[in-house]
Amino acid sequence: MDTADRFNDECGVFGVFRNPGASALTALGLHALQHRGQEAAGIVACDRGKFRLERHMGLVDDNFTSQDVIDRLKGDCAIGHNRYSTTGEPALHNVQPLFAETAIGGFAVAHNGNITNARKLRETLRNSGSIFQSSSDTEVLIHLLATSTKATFIERFVDAIRQLEGAFALVALTDNLMVGCRDALGIRPLVIGDFEGSFVLASETCALDIIGARFVREVEPGEMVVISDRGMESVRPFPDRPSNRFCIFEYVYFARPDSTISGLSVYEVRKRIGRELAMEAPADADIVVPVPDSGTPAAIGYAEGAGLPFELGIIRNHYVGRTFIEPSDQIRHMGVKLKHNANRSVLKGKRVVLVDDSIVRGTTSMKIVEMVRDAGAAEVHMRIASPPTTDSCFYGVDTPEKSKLIASRMSVEELTRYIRVDSLAYLSIDGLYRAAGQDSRHDVPQYCDACFTGEYPTTLTDRTDRLPQDHLAFLEKA
Ligand code: AMP
Repeated sequence: MDTADRFNDECGVFGVFRNPGASALTALGLHALQHRGQEAAGIVACDRGKFRLERHMGLVDDNFTSQDVIDRLKGDCAIGHNRYSTTGEPALHNVQPLFAETAIGGFAVAHNGNITNARKLRETLRNSGSIFQSSSDTEVLIHLLATSTKATFIERFVDAIRQLEGAFALVALTDNLMVGCRDALGIRPLVIGDFEGSFVLASETCALDIIGARFVREVEPGEMVVISDRGMESVRPFPDRPSNRFCIFEYVYFARPDSTISGLSVYEVRKRIGRELAMEAPADADIVVPVPDSGTPAAIGYAEGAGLPFELGIIRNHYVGRTFIEPSDQIRHMGVKLKHNANRSVLKGKRVVLVDDSIVRGTTSMKIVEMVRDAGAAEVHMRIASPPTTDSCFYGVDTPEKSKLIASRMSVEELTRYIRVDSLAYLSIDGLYRAAGQDSRHDVPQYCDACFTGEYPTTLTDRTDRLPQDHLAFLEKA
C-alpha cells in the first residue's frame, strides 16, 4: 500500500485555550487519548505570540511527564497530538502538531483522519513552488493556508479546508486563536469542553474527564469553531448542508468505552452490539469469554442476551501495546502470546463462546482459539461484534490493504475452518446500526461503514480505482 497518504492513521488531538496550565493539561489529555496513537506524541504551546514545540517518538508518559518538558512548553494555549502509524518509516518530521511561520503569523495544527486527495494537492503545490518537509498529508493544509490570498487566518483556513477531501478532525493554534474543525461528514470525532472557564478541544470525552473539564458539545460535522478572547464562534466552511457519517468503527473498537459520542455511551453501544449478536447468532454453550480488552463489553452484552455466565477465560497482560504496533507478521504472531494467556480453570471442559470485536488479518483469532483449545475447552464458538471487515479504511483507522483482510478473501465457512472453531458468526450490518441507535442501515446511512461495506462516502481522488459517490458530490463543489 502506498504510504504517503496514510501518515495520520489513528490519532488523538487535544487543545486548551487560555489557561496557565495549558501544556500540563494537554499532556494529561493526550494521556487519556493514548489508545488512539502510541507511536509518537507532540505538544505546541503559545506564549504571547512565541511558539514552543516538543515532539517525541513514544508514549505520552515517556516524554511529557517531567516538569522540565512542561516548563519548556510555556504559554497559556497549547495543542497536542498522539500519532499511530504502522506503515511508512516512523520519523520525527512527521510527528504532530505541525508548525509553520506564515506571512500572517505562526500556525500549528494537529490532525486526526486522512486526507484522501493529499497526494494530488501535494503535486499541485509542489509544481507551484511549495517545499514539503514531511510526508504527512496534514502538511498540505499548511501550504494551502500559507499560499492562500485571503486576508485573515480564518478566511485562509476555510479556503484551505474546502480543498480537502476525506476525513479530518483538526485542532489548530495561532497566537490568538484556537480552531477546531471537522470534515463535512464528521467522520472523526471532536468535542468541546470547558475547564474552569477555558475552552478545551479533544477527540473524545474521556480526555475531558481526566482533567475534570465539563462537556459542552461536539463540533458538528462540517463545522469550524473559532475560539478567541471574545469567546467561541461557529463558522460553516461547506456551502451545502453537511450530513453525518460518523465512523461506526469508533463504536466497535477504536474509541474508549468510557467516552460518549453523539449522546451514546461507547460502552453501552458495545453491550448492545453483544445483545444483538446473541439474538442473531445464539450458541449452545456453557460460558461467554471475551477476547480482552476490546471484546469485553460486547461479551458482557452477549452473556446478558444469551443468559449465559460471563467468564474471564483469557487474561490480558496490560504491559504490552496493541498488537498492531508490531510491524512484521512474525512479531505479530509473538505479540499475541505476549498479550494473552488462557485461564485454564475457567475453560477446561467448557463449551465456550469467544467474543471479539473484529477479525482483521485473522492472526489473533487463530492463536486465541488454539490457546483456548489447549486449555481444555470442549467447543469454541467464535462471535464477532461487527460485520466482516472486508475493505480498507482510508479515513484514519489503520487497516491493512484489502488483500490482507481475511474476510475479503474467505467466506464464513472457510474462515470457520481456517481459525479452527466449531462455529463462527458475525454481527449483521443492520444489527450494528441498531446497536448504534438506528433501526437499520437504510439507503442513506448515518455512519461511515466503508470497512464493512466498501461504500466510501467521499471521493478517493488519490486512488483512481475508486468511484465517487453521487450523493456526496457536494464535497467536490465545496
Ligand atoms: P487480527 O489478528 O489482524 O485479526 O487482529 C484482530 C484484532 O485486532 C482484534 O482483536 C481487534 O481488537 C484488533 N483490531 C481491530 N482493528 C484494529 C486496528 N485498526 N488497530 C489495532 N487493532 C485492531
